[in-house]
Parts: sequence; C-alpha cells; structure tokens
Amino acid sequence: MSIRVVLATHNAHKVAEFQEILGRVLPDIEIVAYDGPEPIEDGASFTANALIKARAAAEFTGLPALADDSGICVGIMSGAPGIFSARWAGPGKGAEANLNLLLAQLGDIHGANREAWFTCAIALVVPAGAGADPAADAFAHVAVGEWRGSLAEAPQGERGFGYDPIFLPDGLPEPQAGLSAAELTAEQKNAVSHRTRAFTEMIPVLRMSVIPN
Ligand code: IMP
Repeated sequence: MSIRVVLATHNAHKVAEFQEILGRVLPDIEIVAYDGPEPIEDGASFTANALIKARAAAEFTGLPALADDSGICVGIMSGAPGIFSARWAGPGKGAEANLNLLLAQLGDIHGANREAWFTCAIALVVPAGAGADPAADAFAHVAVGEWRGSLAEAPQGERGFGYDPIFLPDGLPEPQAGLSAAELTAEQKNAVSHRTRAFTEMIPVLRMSVIPN
C-alpha cells in the first residue's frame, strides 16, 4: 500500500527529485504534485515560508504535505539574498541576472569576506488523523540544511542551476577542491548539498509520522 504525501510545488522537476530521494529510503511513500491555490509567501525566514506552503497544501488536500524553501546567504550582506534569492534582481529577471547582480554588489569584497552558504528548509505538515496514528493531533516539523562555502569572483561551470556557478563549497574532497557547485556532477552535489542535509534530518520524522508501524 502506498502512502500519499503531497509536495507543495508546481515544479514537476522538484516532484521528481523528491520522489527519487525518498523512493530510495521510503518506498511506501508516493509523492503527488499539489495543484491547489498558492499561498502568499510572506514569512520572514526559510522556515516560515516552507511552513506556509506545506500548511496550505495540507489544508487543501487533507494529506500530509511537504514543502521546501531555499536560497543563498552571504555573510557580509547579513544573510542576504536569503529568502529573496529567487527574485534578487527583480521579479521575472531570472537566474543569470540574479547571479550577476550579486557579483556586482560584491565587486570590492575579496577573499575571506566572500563567505556564503546555501540554506534549505523542508517543512512537513500532517493534518490531524492523516498520519501514522489516526488519533493523533496535527503535527508539523521543519528540517534545515546548510551548505557552507564562499563566492567565486566570476562564474565557473555549466551544471546545476541558480547560484551554483559562483558557489565554491568548503570541504570538498581533494580531486574536487576549488570547483564550483556548477562543476560538480549531480551525484557529487547531492552527496553534500543543503537540500540533502535537510532531507537527511526529515526522513526519520517522515517515517515516524506518516508510515503506520
Ligand atoms: P525556491 O525554489 O523558492 O526555494 O527558490 C530558491 C532559489 O534559491 C532559487 O531560485 C535559486 O536561485 C537559489 N537556490 C536554492 N538552492 C540552490 C542550489 O542548490 N543551487 C543554486 N541556487 C539555489
């Protein structure tokens, strides 16, 4: 029997990515795409926005719901772009404009002052009675993953998406040292990324709260 969990995104790529990661460890869970109304993401943190999206999907469908919110944070900019990462250069401007604006803003900043990190928050909201225990109250949990590094002075690499070409992860193994996230294979990135770290924390919580034992 498969247990349906709705993913609060209209992005088919994300549904496939979640299904792929979860399918390996929780094969009883079937991820379904959410096609209800989109809430206004007016939270002040990744955690708040992930919860807003998961709550809306759980309320609309009555199913356990997952949602994620992520972005890049720069130390010297007090954590910006942060929750504004997807629209840093303005609505509809796109990933390249976002990345170029961030590089321009940091034009005079070099070396250790270019410290940055990706953050991903994954929220799970289980409506009352919709989880492993039909008598349980509603339940929510947020898992947060961070991937630390620094910003390159110019884009490197063609893989990945978003800010990957300017993100130089800390602590890569020797053969990958100095590469940007856009020069790593998907497998290499997924071994260490912020999304994977958040997932790793979420998986046991998901298992406990939605799969009857
Ligand atoms: P979201 O889809 O609303 O969570 O927006 C996330 C935004 O943060 C994306 O548009 C990217 O700009 C950025 N971002 C999040 N994760 C990554 C990543 O793994 N690589 C590059 N950019 C990312």
